[in-house]
Amino acid sequence: MKERIAKEIKKLTSEIPGAFFFYDLDSFEEQLSQMRAFDGLKLWYATKANPLSSVIKSVSKFPINFDCASHGEVNQVLSQRVHSSRLLTTGPAKSKKFFRICLKQGINTFIIESINQLHWLEEVASEFNVRPEVLIRMQLEWDMELDNVLGGNKLTPFGLTLSDWKKVDLKIFSHFDVIGVHSFQWGNILDINLLQTIWNYCAQKAQELAQLLDFELKVLDVGGGLGIVYHPEQRPLEWTQVASSLEKIKESYKLNEIWMELGRYMIGPYGHYVSQIYDIKEVAGEKLVILDSGINHLIRPLLAEESFPMQVLEERSQETSSFTLHGPLCTSLDKLGQCELPQDIQVGDHIVFHQCGAYGFTESMPFFLCHELPAEIVYKNQKTEIVRQIEQPTMWLR
Ligand SMILES: *Cc1c(COP(=O)(O)O)cnc(C)c1O
Repeated sequence: MKERIAKEIKKLTSEIPGAFFFYDLDSFEEQLSQMRAFDGLKLWYATKANPLSSVIKSVSKFPINFDCASHGEVNQVLSQRVHSSRLLTTGPAKSKKFFRICLKQGINTFIIESINQLHWLEEVASEFNVRPEVLIRMQLEWDMELDNVLGGNKLTPFGLTLSDWKKVDLKIFSHFDVIGVHSFQWGNILDINLLQTIWNYCAQKAQELAQLLDFELKVLDVGGGLGIVYHPEQRPLEWTQVASSLEKIKESYKLNEIWMELGRYMIGPYGHYVSQIYDIKEVAGEKLVILDSGINHLIRPLLAEESFPMQVLEERSQETSSFTLHGPLCTSLDKLGQCELPQDIQVGDHIVFHQCGAYGFTESMPFFLCHELPAEIVYKNQKTEIVRQIEQPTMWLR
């Protein structure tokens, strides 16, 4: 953690009466300015990773568009004064009503995930007398043993397989243009060779699909999936390597454009989450730390069975011990991981979790047991701003 950031966080712990997320948007914007795209690489920010208004505002200053997967995300991005031509929508649950909402706002790009979605978009586009652009989402089978949150090799609701799409006659639709294929099944990957294998296979199958359905494959959207470092022994993925791999694929498959929707890789490294130690005890020889908050604010350790990198904020001894960190919920699932921490940590100290910028606040389960919601603080132009104060359960309990 940068010294400047540690200092700001330390100051905030005496001002904010509870747990909070801290987003370093200065470093975030610096990273975005360095993510150069080659001609034909179009980047989208996956809004679901972190839909905070300030994050959207930062992204919108760059030539990066927005991938929205719900009506709420669409509204949130548009209300930050982002033009509707910069939005696309993904997601298996798009209704006719949703298409209507999108077309009414001027959104023109859709990732289509079912045959019904094709018919509904056709009907709504003809009502509005517009001609949106469509990518069809393809689900592939893989010879890989990796387990993955996005489904990986399991059957999922995301798109259809090649043989399912084969049943469709695109000629019967006349109110949209199919310009490409979307395929994304693997998340949080750090190995550039593995990514290249995945993208190559997607490109090959996308070409096959385009031939089968008789449309020109102009765009391949490979989704997100770029990993970030959660363990000290891992090495970060270099953007230049990602870009050059994708450029090769664009050339080999004669594509006009490659699209990428990034969440974790863009914002993940720029968020920290801070929780206070409420109790420390030893149970049957195991050292436990009980925190003010746990999976109610940060559920990823439970979902991914992987803890975030963390450290104690206060100055403590160099001697460490292994501690298991628990949150306040009445379930043993409320665990934020196991970690080496200074032996002399004390009740009242703060644990700072790193790499929490993506899949934090909005992915958690904040309502269980009626605890407070965490605050959200941004650091921008070297100033902190409290975007969300701690919210008491009285604000949402009915
Ligand atoms: C979640 C999601 C992403 C972002 O994935 P990351 O691995 O966070 O980059 C991109 N596209 C779609 C369709 C998604 O659902």
